Amino acid sequence: MTDRSAIVVGAGIGGLTAALCLARTGWRVRVLERGGDVRELGAGLQVTPNSARVLLALGLGPRLEQVVSVPDAIELRDWASARSLFSMRLDTRAFGAPYWHIHRGDLIRVLADAVRARPDIELTTGASVDQVAVSATGASASFSGETVEASVMIAADGIRSTVRGQLFGEPETNFAGNVAWRGLVTADRLPGWEGLARTMVYLGPQAHLVCYPVRGGELINLVAVTETEQWEEESWSLPADVSALAQRFAGWHDTVTTLISAAESGQCFKWGLFDRPPMARYVNGRVALLGDAAHPMLPFLAQGAAMAVEDAAVLAESLSEQSVETGLQRYESERRPRTAWAQRLSRRNARIYHLEGMAAWMRNRVLGLAGRQVMTRLWSYEPPTSKL
Ligand SMILES: Cc1cc2nc3c(=O)[nH]c(=O)nc-3n(C[C@H](O)[C@H](O)[C@H](O)COP(=O)(O)OP(=O)(O)OC[C@H]3O[C@@H](n4cnc5c(N)ncnc54)[C@H](O)[C@@H]3O)c2cc1C
Repeated sequence: MTDRSAIVVGAGIGGLTAALCLARTGWRVRVLERGGDVRELGAGLQVTPNSARVLLALGLGPRLEQVVSVPDAIELRDWASARSLFSMRLDTRAFGAPYWHIHRGDLIRVLADAVRARPDIELTTGASVDQVAVSATGASASFSGETVEASVMIAADGIRSTVRGQLFGEPETNFAGNVAWRGLVTADRLPGWEGLARTMVYLGPQAHLVCYPVRGGELINLVAVTETEQWEEESWSLPADVSALAQRFAGWHDTVTTLISAAESGQCFKWGLFDRPPMARYVNGRVALLGDAAHPMLPFLAQGAAMAVEDAAVLAESLSEQSVETGLQRYESERRPRTAWAQRLSRRNARIYHLEGMAAWMRNRVLGLAGRQVMTRLWSYEPPTSKL
C-alpha cells in the first residue's frame, strides 16, 4: 500500500492524540479500540506544558479550559512535618504553555469528540486486535474475523501491547514493588483544606502521596503509593479499602490524614505499578509503537501520558514530508532517547521518593536544585506542532 492510510490500535490518550495529529497532516485513519466504549478510569492526570502545547495546537484549548484546574505551584513536602522540601511556581509564562490538572474521563471525552468530528478518522469500538502482520508496503490488523490494512500501523495499545508482543518480541513487564491507591475526593468534604489550589507531594518512608484538584476544583485527586513485595492479583486495578489506606498513612501530617479520611468507600482503587526497561526499537518496518506500548514508565514523574502526546506530534511531523520508512526511522531516533531517559528517571524517583533516615536527609538537601533542572528539561520541550 502506498496511500496515506493509517491504523491506530488503541483509543487511549496516546491513540486518540495520534489519530488527530495524523489526520491533521493528511492521513486517513482507522482507530481500533477493544473496549465497548472509549473511556478512562476515574482518576486525575497532570498535563504538563510539554503535552499541553500539542493539545492546544490541535485546537482543543477552548473545550479543555472548561474542565481543567490550573495549579499555582507544585510542592514536595516532608511526610511528618509538612516542611517544604521543594517548591516551584507553575507560571504559564515560564514554559510558554499551561500546566493543567484534569479528570482523565474529561480528557478522553474531549479527544474522542474531536476524533468523531473528523470525516477522515473512523473509530471502531469493540475491536480487540488479536493478530497483526507487517509487509514491505504496509501492515494489517485483525479483530473478530475482520482484517484491515493500511500503509502504516501505530500501536497505541498500552503497556500490555498485543502488537508489541507479536512484532517486537520484547520481554514482559515487571512489577515495580509499588502499589498506587487512587481516588477522587469531593472538595466540599474538605472545607479550608490547604491543598485546594496546588499539586502537593508528601514524601515518607516507603511511601508517598500526591494530591491535586481536578474539574475546576470540584474534586481532589489522590494518589498514594506504597511499597509491597508482590502484586498477586490478575487485574491491575481493584477496589481498595479506604480504612486500610488510612491505617497505612496513620501518623502522617494532618493535611494527608484529613484528605484520606474524606475519601469515600467505592471511590478508591488499588493499582499495581509495572514498567519495563527501555526498548531497543520502537519501529518494525511499517509499524511504530507509541505511548505505554513503547515506553511504559512508573508514575513518579507524571509523564507517561505526556510522552504519548509528544510521540503523536513527532510521529505526524516525521511522516509528513518523507517516505514512510524514513519518517518512522526519524520518529524512533527522536523519541527513543527522551522517553528512555524519562523511564529511567521515573525508576530513580521510585527509589529516592521513599528513602528514610540519613538517606532521606541527604536527598532533601539536593532535591531543590535537581528537581528544578529535571522539571525544566521535561516541561520546556517543544514537540513540533507547526503542521498540525
Ligand atoms: C497512578 C498513575 C498516575 C499517573 N499519572 C500521570 C500523570 O499525572 N501524567 C501523565 O502524563 N501520566 C500519568 N500516568 C501515566 C499514564 O496514565 C499513561 O502513561 C497513559 O495513560 C498511557 O496512555 P496510552 O494511550 O499509551 O495507553 P493506554 O491508556 O493504556 O491506552 C491503551 C488503549 O488500547 C486499548 N487496547 C489494548 N489492547 C488492545 C487491542 N488488542 N486491540 C484494541 N485496543 C486495545 C485499551 O483498551 C486502551 O484504550 C499515570 C499512571 C499511573 C498508573
